[in-house]
Amino acid sequence: MSEASVFERIVAGEIPASKVFENDRVLAIRDIAPKAPVHLLVFPKVGTYPNVAALAAGDAGLLAELVSVAQHLADEHCGGEFRLIFNTGETAGQTVFHVHAHVLGDPEHTGALTEGTL
Ligand code: 5GP
Repeated sequence: MSEASVFERIVAGEIPASKVFENDRVLAIRDIAPKAPVHLLVFPKVGTYPNVAALAAGDAGLLAELVSVAQHLADEHCGGEFRLIFNTGETAGQTVFHVHAHVLGDPEHTGALTEGTL
């Protein structure tokens, strides 16, 4: 069996995290190394899907739930507007192989996420 990912260890309570949302199936935390004024991570507490395509194929409802939680977080933290990123594969920058969405926002309008910054 492969080693548990950092997010599975956070779900298990083995590693501390700053939680911003939790229900039976989904957990959201603050990224430890934020790349935007608001940088949250949303991931499933259930299943072992390595990336968003595997999650879409295996449990489309859970993927929809991640997106819905992302909107809820954006409503709370950044005026309802957000960038949603699922890095998929090492060359795309994925480092944790337990599916997770990055929710990025710029509630103070610093320009950190304007067009052309991706
Ligand atoms: P990826 O590069 O796989 O798309 O995203 C992984 C993200 O997880 C990175 O933005 C990284 O900063 C974040 N991260 C890695 N380890 C930890 C941790 O222990 N706690 C938190 N809160 N975030 C982490």
